[in-house]
Amino acid sequence: MNYLVSFFGKNERIERHYTVSSCMRKPFYEALVASLKMSLEGGMPALNSDLLSTAPTSSIGLTIKNYSIDKGLSKKLHGFDNLKDTVQVKGPMGKGLGLTSDSEGTYVAFSAGTGILPFIDLVARIALGALNLIPES
Ligand SMILES: Cc1cc2nc3c(=O)[nH]c(=O)nc-3n(C[C@H](O)[C@H](O)[C@H](O)COP(=O)(O)OP(=O)(O)OC[C@H]3O[C@@H](n4cnc5c(N)ncnc54)[C@H](O)[C@@H]3O)c2cc1C
Repeated sequence: MNYLVSFFGKNERIERHYTVSSCMRKPFYEALVASLKMSLEGGMPALNSDLLSTAPTSSIGLTIKNYSIDKGLSKKLHGFDNLKDTVQVKGPMGKGLGLTSDSEGTYVAFSAGTGILPFIDLVARIALGALNLIPES
């Protein structure tokens, strides 16, 4: 899912889209990498089921690359100043990848650079499935 992030600085407003990438949250990412390493070393990977919870939360995880462009938004977000800057987040927007458990057929995704981020949760989901870490319930 995409969110529109608006930055309000002194006499300026900049808007850019960002994608929720839940698997990039530190605890999840570290657990997934540890599970993949464990599997590659021939062990039995395990994952704390709390990390897979789909219960509603009051936060979203965005991964934002700093393009270091003076007039760009990513640089401002990386140097965010709580005292002077304001940010507004609107969304979710669009239908995401539109895949459901009823989806059929073959899907091919092409991406590069930060363009991988809209697909990163799907990649994590495929990795978890390959590691047998998706609970049946
Ligand atoms: C649907 C969608 C989802 C997205 N999801 C994410 C995400 O999850 N994470 C993420 O990090 N980004 C994501 N992006 C990209 C994001 O919206 C911004 O484009 C990105 O953060 C760069 O914004 P910026 O304002 O810092 O740079 P901008 O100023 O917008 O610059 C963008 C590009 O233009 C080039 N550029 C700008 N000025 C110049 C110049 N003077 N000379 C040469 N080149 C220049 C930059 O090198 C850069 O490649 C997404 C975009 C879309 C459309």
